[in-house]
Amino acid sequence: MPNYDDLIAALSLPEKVELLTGASMFTLGDEPRIGLTEMAFSDGPTGVRGLEFTGGEAVALFPNATLLASAWSTETAEAVGQLLADEAERQHIHVVLGPTINLHRTPLGGRLFEQYAEDPLLTGHLAAAYVRGLQSRGIGACLKHLVANESETERNYVSSEISEASLRELYLLPFEIAVEDAQPWSIMAAYNDINGVAATEHAHINNGVVKGEWDWDGLLMSDWFATKTAAAAANSGLDLVMPGPDGPWGAALIADVEAGKVDEKVIDDHVRRLLRLADRVGALGQARTWRTERPIPDSPQRRTELRHLATDGMVVLRNRDALPLTGDERIALIGTPAVETTCMGGGSATVNPPHQISIADGMRSALDDQVEVVAGVEVRTLPVPSTDLRHPDSGEPGVRVSMLDEAGNRLGEKHRDTASATVEADTFERPTARVVLTGRSADGGQMHVGAIGTGHWTLRVDGQEVAVFDLAADGHDPGEATLIPPRRAIEVNVPAGGLVEAEVRIVAAEPVPGPDGVVGVLANAIASGLGLKALVAEPVPAPVQDTIAAAVAAAREADVAVVAVGLTEEQETESRDKHTLRLPGEQDALVKAVAAVARRTVVVVNAASPVLMPWADEVDAILVAGLPGQEAGHAVADALLGIREPAGRLVTTWPAADAATPAWDVVPTDLRLDYSEGTFIGHRGHRAGLADAPAYWFGQGEGYGSWAYASARLVDGQPAPAVQVEVRNTSLRDSREVVQVYLQPTEPGQPVRLVGWSSVSVPAGESASVVVRTDPRSWRRWTAEGWAPLSGGELLVARGLGDVRHRLAVGDAQDS
Ligand code: BGC
Repeated sequence: MPNYDDLIAALSLPEKVELLTGASMFTLGDEPRIGLTEMAFSDGPTGVRGLEFTGGEAVALFPNATLLASAWSTETAEAVGQLLADEAERQHIHVVLGPTINLHRTPLGGRLFEQYAEDPLLTGHLAAAYVRGLQSRGIGACLKHLVANESETERNYVSSEISEASLRELYLLPFEIAVEDAQPWSIMAAYNDINGVAATEHAHINNGVVKGEWDWDGLLMSDWFATKTAAAAANSGLDLVMPGPDGPWGAALIADVEAGKVDEKVIDDHVRRLLRLADRVGALGQARTWRTERPIPDSPQRRTELRHLATDGMVVLRNRDALPLTGDERIALIGTPAVETTCMGGGSATVNPPHQISIADGMRSALDDQVEVVAGVEVRTLPVPSTDLRHPDSGEPGVRVSMLDEAGNRLGEKHRDTASATVEADTFERPTARVVLTGRSADGGQMHVGAIGTGHWTLRVDGQEVAVFDLAADGHDPGEATLIPPRRAIEVNVPAGGLVEAEVRIVAAEPVPGPDGVVGVLANAIASGLGLKALVAEPVPAPVQDTIAAAVAAAREADVAVVAVGLTEEQETESRDKHTLRLPGEQDALVKAVAAVARRTVVVVNAASPVLMPWADEVDAILVAGLPGQEAGHAVADALLGIREPAGRLVTTWPAADAATPAWDVVPTDLRLDYSEGTFIGHRGHRAGLADAPAYWFGQGEGYGSWAYASARLVDGQPAPAVQVEVRNTSLRDSREVVQVYLQPTEPGQPVRLVGWSSVSVPAGESASVVVRTDPRSWRRWTAEGWAPLSGGELLVARGLGDVRHRLAVGDAQDS
């Protein structure tokens, strides 16, 4: 191991400080004099996107985090870490920016799809396993976002107002478990403040708890553009500012050291942690050998692995003898998500996959012409980048992107295919002043034609100007402005073979100050026209009543109607929260109409987070398919046909109505978001009566088996009690059961909580004995004096708290 102190001693203060800000959007600088080579970071967490935000090499798209977590399997999480390490190795990436381990505090959180669960124990154990998988292969993991970053609204400015007990018992617990059990090599500090102090400047959390109490020796980096100060952040434990090369450290931090505001020893500690990371990922001393002969994303091996991972997490919420399908039925497959399946969420977690198999393609490939696919109702409210245009010269799918200078001289051209139809302004040749996006529509017809991205736009059809408008970022969240750029479309008739063109003049707009009155670096960047640009050209959808009538007619003819409903990246996205759990568009009306006439109705929910299902009692089966990644349709077909059991259990409580949850609001008041429910989020709060009973409990899921719980007893388990449970698979199918153990503590004011779980696969008709070890970190509460043990209570052996099978007294409760 190199002697870090000697290496640090060889660097001047400016050299050290330069290393502590990224060298680019996703890389860190090298320092050949001390044998330090460049390091590359990549999002994360459900795919390794690489160094480019859009386009770039095709990479494997994994099922989203909640779907993976729904398998309730640390083995699965570890395997995912290893597969991601393959993806990182192929692309020479040293650190994958994941897992995201904030909790599902309220179902409105836009980024729930990226986080595992509402429970800290499940989250912590899955995170530790994922970290082990990645790091066992020499690729660094990065736990994010430290801490109390459970929603997106005003995320750069909001202060999460939260008690120390809630921090310790809930929101810090996944970080603590992952640090203790898997020693992650890096952690990312969040955008938000915690009790009025920026996460990047939170000395108590960063230095006191994480580096101090937990003795963690890794590197703490900022979330992108989150760092606001030099001395305050550096002194409070932040090691690295991302991205770079510009940022608030550099000369300002050097000056602060020279002025005595920051001790140079503090800088040395940051550099030591950076060198340790480099050492761990093979960027210090001898150059790393990359094992690049890994299976490519569309190799048969990778496709099978991703397909199985997706099915394993899918959750059966209702089944009145409708599933699995026999494979002999005539099926009417209905709904927009069947054809345009949402395979991933939006924001920094997106990747450019080799393909995205829709549910329709998956079902057709399994059952050929037994499946009739019927269009569904509109599920989006915003225009999307066009998918059916052709390059005007080559005729290839996609659009031509031409870059022009102010005088109209052509500076360059690129082709964007339909899978990555957006183009990033920062990849334009300089000095681009105008960009023209052009595509040919094969069939033409009545279309929505428009544009996405900030700037002054002119739309033309066959050279004829049809609209001129300005688009400016609304709001001041840099993420929202760049990740979900402004957009507009108008209805136009396009002749068959017509040329559709959108020209944008990149104009510098007035920078928008944040709600704190400050105009930040990013506000300026957005105002100067950065962000994604795209051309919109989509056929105008048929009237809703016609669509529903066609679906009803098809459902009447079929043996089974399979209706796919769901959310899109409009709801499941970074940088914006939801405001309702209602399915978008007229999807509820569609399901009701179909269920009223179909012999059998099976609903597939293509969403990662809870949605309301007012028709749940009118349908025969409900399968929650999450955002299933690149093999989506095949995985759904496997689940529906019982080729592989959808054996997942919910990782979030699904409420029965909007606001019927212990924590709901995500809109801060005066930039403060009160975590007033304390430690009673999700099932904990429902159980305590803070909200009505939910529609479906955390931990619920039927799989294709049925289970008798013959007995449960306490057994010796050190350092915390263990429970031995006898289960019998009373069904005619082999099946997997997830045995969950919750503790209702004796202490008043303490919520029920998951203390352990274990899964077992049991052949049809057979029994098995399962030992569930509980985690000692769930048997404590935070007091003014620090951690105090819980004295005891009642253990609930359950299939989600709506289905408790056994109760066992422990500790004081047992003695009395
Ligand atoms: C996200 C991080 C992500 C980073 C880099 C930020 O907007 O919050 O999770 O890793 O961007 O893309």
